[in-house]
Amino acid sequence: MKCLICLTDMNQAISWQSLGKRQRYGYCADCEPKLKLITGPVCPDCGRHVSTGAMCHDCKERRGKSLSYNRSLYHYDGASKALLTLCKYRYHYHALTPLKREINQGFLQHYGKLKQATLVPVPVSTKRMEERLFNQAALIASLINRPALSLLDKHHTGKQALKTRQERLDLANPFYLTEGKSLPKGPIVLIDDVYTTGTTIHHAANVLKTAGISEIYSFTLAR
Ligand SMILES: [Zn+2]
Ligand SMILES: [Zn+2]
Repeated sequence: MKCLICLTDMNQAISWQSLGKRQRYGYCADCEPKLKLITGPVCPDCGRHVSTGAMCHDCKERRGKSLSYNRSLYHYDGASKALLTLCKYRYHYHALTPLKREINQGFLQHYGKLKQATLVPVPVSTKRMEERLFNQAALIASLINRPALSLLDKHHTGKQALKTRQERLDLANPFYLTEGKSLPKGPIVLIDDVYTTGTTIHHAANVLKTAGISEIYSFTLAR
């Protein structure tokens, strides 16, 4: 069996004992410890690790907040980046499955109090869907034991990764409400793979706020 992150063969002996101990079974002994949960104090708005627990510089600068706050599960670095790259560009749909329990625990920790929350995956454009055949945000939402609703669509805007930070900040809102969907009554938790500048999540939140949703949060796999 191959490690779901580095794809090297795992020659470790599989025992019931090791299966019980490691809830992230499927990743090798090198990769597994590198997948680090965000723990300790975080910025109250964007959920990034901040040792003082005070609001970070980026969040202080942000205007017009439609999003109540974001929380993320893992630090976005080597292992989580590799995992999401495999998932997004190489069709390794199952690479995230070993994290299901941890994803649910993280969701409950941050949003367990929102009993009536509906998950809304951040969409990719139709063109991107045709290339990738799936949306990684919808995949993450499907691992969380809560109802999910696809409420948003996205215009095609080119690859985010190829744009500079300023270009991304300047980009007009690419999201719009999907036609013919009725809005849920309770709060919404937007789901995405990663929160970097936050522009994507905030654009999505702006559309939902304008449509009349009063409480909007977000949960991403990495930050
Ligand atoms: Zn590995
Ligand atoms: Zn922040």
